[in-house]
Amino acid sequence: MSSRRSRFTVRYTGLNQSRRECSIHRTRRLSIVDRDARAAVSRGTSQMRLAIEILQLLVQSADSWLFEGSLAGLSDREWMALRFLARANRFSRTPTALASFLGTTRSVASQIAAVLESKGLMVRKPSAEDKRSIALCITSEGEKFLERDPINALRDQLVTLELPDRSQLRDTLRRVLDGLDVAKRRHNADVCGRCMFLIESGEGKDRHFKCRLFRKSIAPRDTTLLCAYFEGRG
Ligand code: SF4
Repeated sequence: MSSRRSRFTVRYTGLNQSRRECSIHRTRRLSIVDRDARAAVSRGTSQMRLAIEILQLLVQSADSWLFEGSLAGLSDREWMALRFLARANRFSRTPTALASFLGTTRSVASQIAAVLESKGLMVRKPSAEDKRSIALCITSEGEKFLERDPINALRDQLVTLELPDRSQLRDTLRRVLDGLDVAKRRHNADVCGRCMFLIESGEGKDRHFKCRLFRKSIAPRDTTLLCAYFEGRG
């Protein structure tokens, strides 16, 4: 069985460049830049353009909760802290965990906690987990105050999305953040359900959750709270 010879021959004319000549129409010397390479460059460019467009949308959406000065008496960082403490699990309501979440030092986190405390939005209590530590606990005034959280405008828009769109957006953003965590060698706070330290046993009424890191049981409702010690399942 004879194989059909291609009528094109490829000649390499320099670094990253090739020229194809048509053996039939030699007189016209069909000279072409490698179309595959050009298509790959064009694909790469449009992917980059799309990525930049998404980036701009994310930055615009952040405008609703990142701001200069203060809103309802709190800076954007103080709002972030209050928001975190309202959703943090019992292991993460500490100055250290708050500092890790805010990406700041423990002393700056303590200053932010002091502002929240001075406004009656949070109180310090002896930690139930470790008697030598204190827990930063949001007060009922703090819970109520969160109804004025500037980020609620964005939340209310997300709620209007169809459930599949919302789930897909969540999963996509999670993948992006996971990638950033790996690249920046840092941890993001997340919920127990995705954590490698969570042990599940039993079913239905007998379903039980335990944290391997803290060696403590976790109530089912607490598995949806934020934890600063979260470690994703590789
Ligand atoms: S299982 Fe993970 S996320 Fe949950 S409390 Fe333990 S370390 Fe935190």
